[in-house]
Amino acid sequence: VLIATVCSPISYLPLKFALSGTKPPEQTCESREQRSSYLKHRSPELPPYLLSKLQEYERRHRRCGPLSESFNTTSPLGTHNDFSDGEFRTDDCKFVVYSPSQGLGNRILGLSSTFLYALLTNRVLLVDFGPDMEDLFCEPFPNSTWYLPETFPFLFQLQTHRFRASYSYGNLLKRGKIDQDGDSSSSPALLQIFLQDKYNEYDKLFFKDENQGFVERVPWLVLIHDGYFIPCLFQMQSFRSELEKLFPDQETVFHHLVKYLFSPSNQAWGQITGFYEAYLAKAEERIGFQIRVFEPKQTPFTAVMKQITSCTQKHRLILPQSDEVTLRNEKSKSILVASLSRKYYEEIDWMYGTRRRQSTGIAVYQASHEGKQHSGDNSHNMKAWMDIYLLSTSDVLVTSSMSTFGYVAAGIAGVKPWIVMIPDPYHPRGANESACERAINLEPCFHFPPWFAYPDPPGTGGPVGRCEDVSWGLKLV
Ligand code: GDP
Repeated sequence: VLIATVCSPISYLPLKFALSGTKPPEQTCESREQRSSYLKHRSPELPPYLLSKLQEYERRHRRCGPLSESFNTTSPLGTHNDFSDGEFRTDDCKFVVYSPSQGLGNRILGLSSTFLYALLTNRVLLVDFGPDMEDLFCEPFPNSTWYLPETFPFLFQLQTHRFRASYSYGNLLKRGKIDQDGDSSSSPALLQIFLQDKYNEYDKLFFKDENQGFVERVPWLVLIHDGYFIPCLFQMQSFRSELEKLFPDQETVFHHLVKYLFSPSNQAWGQITGFYEAYLAKAEERIGFQIRVFEPKQTPFTAVMKQITSCTQKHRLILPQSDEVTLRNEKSKSILVASLSRKYYEEIDWMYGTRRRQSTGIAVYQASHEGKQHSGDNSHNMKAWMDIYLLSTSDVLVTSSMSTFGYVAAGIAGVKPWIVMIPDPYHPRGANESACERAINLEPCFHFPPWFAYPDPPGTGGPVGRCEDVSWGLKLV
């Protein structure tokens, strides 16, 4: 396992502190203190009830988490390796472990959703990050750690089996092993909640109100999910009224969660602010392009560029009128192009940058071009995090359809993005479809909800509706 954020030195040594009972050293997190001067859009205040619940959560995390005495005396650390019976109780402390997969955007959505589930069900969130996630974030919860200790007995299985386990909720349900009305002595100590995109009809029943009673009795949950399932929580009667109290404005649920949970570590912050100060700070307006092409070999570059330019031209996102206008009196602008490929940066630079038009006052930049997505690579994830955060300093954001990377940048920025419909072999994008749509709010799309979460009949209001970019997705509206 992992484990280090420069921001909180304790994360190098969670177990040491846990075992010795020593208080963790003073934590600093520069980004938390400084970011408001980089993010242009004033964040809406945390609703008072949400604030009080977060404070209550922090107290619980301190009381139950890996640095607490209670964790070391009552958790299943070290000695046991069988979770099949209810032997390992943890007093009134219950946990949900998040085990990540896929890219950084997916992980941030999955973790945000899991944290909200922990908040609603009085659990403590722990993360099972591998070394590829080192040094990206500050510890979110004061005087504690969210890292699962290395001696967690099932760590190896967690890291190598990111598919449906025999102890998953769906499997138990399928095998008739779930006693809905039983008491806690009849429930397992560990349960996997498998909610990946290929989850089956049994797994999906986790999102049914009547099944939460059983789940609630299990002290350790391991949640495998890489998207934004919060719209489904809003569709559950058991959580709806509490969620409405927590988030009086449902359009900023993700915005609040992502800013609370994910602050760049001091190392990441140094890189982000270094680039920002050198290239972006001076411009009067910042425009961020996030260009994500899922099937680059089968998607013509020109088809993607056509969608991007028709969006920017139609909505005058870069130039106020036609291309030819003299821009002497215009604001100075910087364009940041975030993409795995360098070609989009070169094309946009050629179209708008100073090489071709000295007078425009537009400068085009790219912080990295990694070529393709790598898995398990810490410096690659660091560059992704840097791009997400740099994008979030934009005044105007242009993102790509279906991309969780873009959802996260927009959520942190607090800026409703223009979502460009990127063509691919399955979605060629017809000439009469619009090239982009303005997001109606800052909420990400849940790409694979269970059928019963759709409003019935469709469009009947309620908290969820259709996504702009994924016809089968659901989002808070
Ligand atoms: P999604 O696949 O677009 O939904 O976004 P994810 O973040 O889940 O996965 C894509 C991964 O590819 C990212 O986490 C990065 O590792 C990489 N990637 C994709 N686009 C970019 C980009 O613009 N910049 C950087 N640095 N990496 C990117």
